[in-house]
Amino acid sequence: MTDIMWFRHDLRLEDQTALYHAMTTSKDLILLFHVNPTQFIDHSLNHQAFFQAVQFFQTQVNEQMHLQMLYGDIRACFTRLKAAVPSWERIYFNTDEAGFGLQRDQDMIDFFVKNDITVHAYQDHYLHHADLIKNQSGQPYKVFTPYYNRWKEMIKPTPLRTPLNSSIVVKDVLFPKDEAEFANLCASLPQKPFYELGSTAAKKRFKAFVSHYLADYETNRDFPAVNGTSLLSPYLRTGELSIRTVWSMLEFAENSIGKQTFQKELCWRDFYNMIYKENPNQKTDPIKKEFQHINWNKSETDFQKWCQGQTGYPIIDAAMAQLNETGWMHNRLRMIVASFLIKDLLIDWRKGEKYFQQQLIDYSPASNIGGWQWAASTGTDAVPYFRIFNPVTQSEKFDASGAFIRNYLPALKELPDALIHQPWKMTELEESLYGVTLGKDYPHPIVVHKTARLKTLSAYEDSKAYA
Ligand code: FAD
Repeated sequence: MTDIMWFRHDLRLEDQTALYHAMTTSKDLILLFHVNPTQFIDHSLNHQAFFQAVQFFQTQVNEQMHLQMLYGDIRACFTRLKAAVPSWERIYFNTDEAGFGLQRDQDMIDFFVKNDITVHAYQDHYLHHADLIKNQSGQPYKVFTPYYNRWKEMIKPTPLRTPLNSSIVVKDVLFPKDEAEFANLCASLPQKPFYELGSTAAKKRFKAFVSHYLADYETNRDFPAVNGTSLLSPYLRTGELSIRTVWSMLEFAENSIGKQTFQKELCWRDFYNMIYKENPNQKTDPIKKEFQHINWNKSETDFQKWCQGQTGYPIIDAAMAQLNETGWMHNRLRMIVASFLIKDLLIDWRKGEKYFQQQLIDYSPASNIGGWQWAASTGTDAVPYFRIFNPVTQSEKFDASGAFIRNYLPALKELPDALIHQPWKMTELEESLYGVTLGKDYPHPIVVHKTARLKTLSAYEDSKAYA
């Protein structure tokens, strides 16, 4: 009897639930990754980073074992697999609980059952899974704080010591053509990885964060110019690092407000996963139905200016430059740019969500949709729709010296602190003094915040009245 261990966004050999079970029960095991080439059509930063991680993982696995690659339409691939390995009887994988991944898993479970393959599916990606935390009436929570209060009390799962037995793993290359196709795809990836790839680098990075930055996390995490957050998100997204390992590494750190706040952030990750599962249409439909009739600004020019960081608001443009250049953006900036797109430009939050999906190397559907609906005030957040960030005061508060802005917008480098947050206040004399001509070296502001804010409030009120 042959078994399959199907890797997906769980690219590691340690503390890996499905792999643990496969290694403990199997006598003849195929390690497998399926590449869906349609996912790579847009060559987005998101997918470039993901396939870089897959390639790195493949190299790592192939040192002692072999990661078989299947390339192409998923059902056709697994049909070929069944024909090539008639003794295949069981499949092991870690499931997704929401969105595209859930749909794919349901379809494939159906396929496996029809083909007499026994499915061993596990939950691996979260500390507490979507169905685990319910309120006293047995219903899912709808807002964060009571969920968090319950989450805090729950005992956290501990890491699994996966017994790696390379002698049971099939090492012959079963699908050389598929491997060649994957190698071709990898040849089109940027040479330089977006971040230091692999489980070892992930652990090293997190260890350093816990030792040097965790205690000050509460104070520093809101300042994009400061090295204050863990940068764990790409590793959690690919599964190069297990969330149970993360939690267990935190246990060794001294108690501090920083540690408590960090743990709370991990709870947001679980919370948004639960919310997405409970609201399967959340990518397209607002949770608060009264905001489904907003008369959005359809201007493609405005949207493109936001995407390209050409809004004339330095904090927005520097943040978008960070996203476009590195594939990652600081959390405070994600909140500011999302608020700006929705509530200054009055552009549909779904467009921003899609742009982030394309650009983020840590793209997680549940967290991204949750974050965008939070910014649009259409989601689970209790704060009303009239919370509208002022991009200038946010900039002054969280990048007071303009260090972050200067780093990403060299044209504004010479501006004094008083002007860096609102360069449109420069006189002609100052323009020539600092070598920046507005409209030439840096854009005029795309909107006036005060006016835009009023327009947005009225669009939200109209939608409420209509509903
Ligand atoms: P740290 O501050 O070190 O936090 C540690 C971990 O906690 C993060 O890696 C993440 O897993 C989790 N976390 C922290 N904040 C949040 C949060 N608000 N929601 C959910 N989980 C959180 N996060 C993603 O992982 N993928 C996304 O696609 C994503 N899109 C977002 C879109 C918007 C509009 C907003 C406002 C937030 C989004 N976030 C997303 C959440 C957050 O911005 C990132 O998790 C964080 O910036 C990652 O950096 P870090 O690992 O250094 O975070």
